[in-house]
Amino acid sequence: MTKGAPPDNVGAVMADANPNITDEPAENAAPGGLRKIIHIDMDAFFASVEQRDDPSLRGLPLAVGSATGRGVVAAASYEARKFGVRSAMPSQRALRLCPDLVFRMPRFDVYRDISRHIRAIFADYTPIIEPLSLDEAYLDVTADMRGIGSATRIAELIRERIRSELNLTASAGVSYNKFLAKLASDQNKPDGLCVIRPGEGAQFVAGLPVRRFHGVGPRGAEKMARLGIETGEDLRARPIEVLREHFGSQADYLYRAVRGIDLRPVQAHRRRKSLGGERTFAHDISSGPALRETLDRIVDIVWDRIESANAHGRTVTLKMRFADFTLLTRARSVEHVVESKTDFARIGHALLDELLPLPQPIRLMGLTLSSLEGADEAPETVEGAPAANGTSDSRNAQLSLF
Ligand SMILES: [Mg+2]
Repeated sequence: MTKGAPPDNVGAVMADANPNITDEPAENAAPGGLRKIIHIDMDAFFASVEQRDDPSLRGLPLAVGSATGRGVVAAASYEARKFGVRSAMPSQRALRLCPDLVFRMPRFDVYRDISRHIRAIFADYTPIIEPLSLDEAYLDVTADMRGIGSATRIAELIRERIRSELNLTASAGVSYNKFLAKLASDQNKPDGLCVIRPGEGAQFVAGLPVRRFHGVGPRGAEKMARLGIETGEDLRARPIEVLREHFGSQADYLYRAVRGIDLRPVQAHRRRKSLGGERTFAHDISSGPALRETLDRIVDIVWDRIESANAHGRTVTLKMRFADFTLLTRARSVEHVVESKTDFARIGHALLDELLPLPQPIRLMGLTLSSLEGADEAPETVEGAPAANGTSDSRNAQLSLF
């Protein structure tokens, strides 16, 4: 069994991690103090959906993404993973590893519909749902609102319903905190269930390679390897001062996690700070008409997201990355909120017009609405997803939808 490379999401976890190593009660703590957390993760989500909907793809090494130019693999089927193909890998490299690799373009509308269906299933068991992406979420089922009796049974019911209602498989991890639940869901993938009971956390973590820890990306794992830290046990042996010296604000999170402790609550309504989208081009562009047309297409996609999130924001930011990778951003705020798609487009074009003619061609353009009020859903980030035109590169693959 193979698994995808862990996302390099140190920043996300740093933002979440509580910097104090005190025992303050978690927000959703049960009267006895212990919470019951389930992490659900769909198996090779985009690739499984494509194989479900097109039987000719079943059993084949499949990559969702664009095979051309700067395309990246957004998702790889388990057959493809056997060859070492991973999400966020440049497609050209994936093809070298697996010359028979079949590519399909992503169908995000389909994935979003399925994601909504999955969340509706979750909502039958708990209102405390924190989506991490379209295919992953934490659930706090401490309250057991349907009187099912155990978190493990709830996880089994959810997996059964995903299978029967969507003809897809999900893996589940059950434990008493988020860090352990996420490790557990990864343990028996695909189509697996793993439970880490109170008292078992530290021991479970000790034997694992640190690269499997949520928040330790490939670069973090390399840095740890240089320090002689390969496993949870190695990490646990380091004093907090040493971790702080090397891992800064992430040190306290790591120090606790490796002891099986994670105080972060499941956040049902994480406040969204901004909503946007960007695209990386197959070929760098610089002409005014091409830039304006691209901006219009980004406006279409982003405004769709703004409307579905019922978000109201005041600041529009245009971002461009030049051929030499330097980044330029320009922002403008309005007094109340950006009321309509027309307004959103108008501000975006005004920002662009002020920058023309460009000093050099650009490889990426993005547009974001921020200073949000009332956005009512957690961000739908898609790790390793290609940009809107299906071409991207590994450098910003993780950020192509944000
Ligand atoms: Mg998944």
